[in-house]
Amino acid sequence: MSETTIPARILMGPGPSNVHARVYQALTSPTLGHMDPVYFKLMDETQVLLREVFQTKNALTLALPVTGMGAMETCLVNLVEPGDEVLVCVGGVFSGRMPEIAERYGAKVTKLTIPWGQPAQPAQIAEALKKQPAKLVALVHGETSTGVMQTGLPEIARICHDHGALLLVDTVASLGGTVFKADAWDIDAVYTGSQKCLSVPPGISPVTFGKRAEEKLAKRKTKVASWYMDLTLIRKYWNEERVYHHTGPVNMTYALLEGLKLIREEGLDARVARHAKAAKALHAGLEAMGLELFVKNPADRLPTLTTVLIPAGADDVKVRKTLLEQHSLEIGGGLGDLKGKGWRVGLMGEGAKPNHVLVFLSALGGILKAQGASGVKPGAGVEAAAAVLNG
Ligand SMILES: *Cc1c(COP(=O)(O)O)cnc(C)c1O
Repeated sequence: MSETTIPARILMGPGPSNVHARVYQALTSPTLGHMDPVYFKLMDETQVLLREVFQTKNALTLALPVTGMGAMETCLVNLVEPGDEVLVCVGGVFSGRMPEIAERYGAKVTKLTIPWGQPAQPAQIAEALKKQPAKLVALVHGETSTGVMQTGLPEIARICHDHGALLLVDTVASLGGTVFKADAWDIDAVYTGSQKCLSVPPGISPVTFGKRAEEKLAKRKTKVASWYMDLTLIRKYWNEERVYHHTGPVNMTYALLEGLKLIREEGLDARVARHAKAAKALHAGLEAMGLELFVKNPADRLPTLTTVLIPAGADDVKVRKTLLEQHSLEIGGGLGDLKGKGWRVGLMGEGAKPNHVLVFLSALGGILKAQGASGVKPGAGVEAAAAVLNG
């Protein structure tokens, strides 16, 4: 068989995102044994840098050999015991998966249903907990199906704790691209993925558990229902005990560590500002073209993922196919309620750059013009975005 040629893409979908050359280089370093002292040193360095990105001092901070969904399931299986009441704020596809997973492990789930395109209001969570107390509240910080950012997390954490509940937050699409502070906001458990704003290939997922979450783990009456995802076992591989649990994803750990080093070099604040500026330019460009953003309140828009409504006269599949084939540029189609109605445009990690915004707007304008989409001003997008980027 001949060697497969992989095309270089501009990845502007909901993840994976583009990967820095240094991360690819790290991936191709020699594979070490998973019990090699040199590998242990790299695991330790990874934990230090993960704490920086999560903004936490949590001892239980490590990376799992899974994708984001595996991290979601790991957090839930460790924090849920059969019969536990769990409140999930559901406003999109990813938060919609949490009740299903929690129920499989025996949780009694109450769903707080939020209209698509809006975040949950802290007062709604307080009311829901008053009506039905819960041991755990779970929500998504950056909902990739809608492009909504859950604001008010410090207040929500306070409400949860006042009601004796832990707060679990999904930051798969937000950590490393927006402000997130696990300790300052008093969040009990957080997970993320590698291939979104951390710009590392998919397959390794960081998690962090604070004191209350650790206490819950220690006081469980039943064993964690999954042996593979049991953090009480996994942590013994990551801490000084070094007990073999699974073969660490050695080369993926190199890649994650290099991605985290790139974040430290850039600086978290500068990185967040870069994402914010690129998103502002993208939003200005899309609106100047006459397109409508799905999330109405600018404060609720997730900078790392934008949902834009498909204009009348445009062919969803053909637009995305043309972007991919002619411009080697990927965006995402709509998920769930937005299927066939919206596009999802990601600006994550390495991808959150002025040139990506300008190339995308220019390409999209040309395609929509050729398709005769109604009310679209194809050239206005680049101009408006450039004004933001140069401002
Ligand atoms: C992508 C994503 C996930 C799932 O991650 P996978 O790596 O696809 O398993 C979970 N939550 C959110 C918010 C995501 O964007």
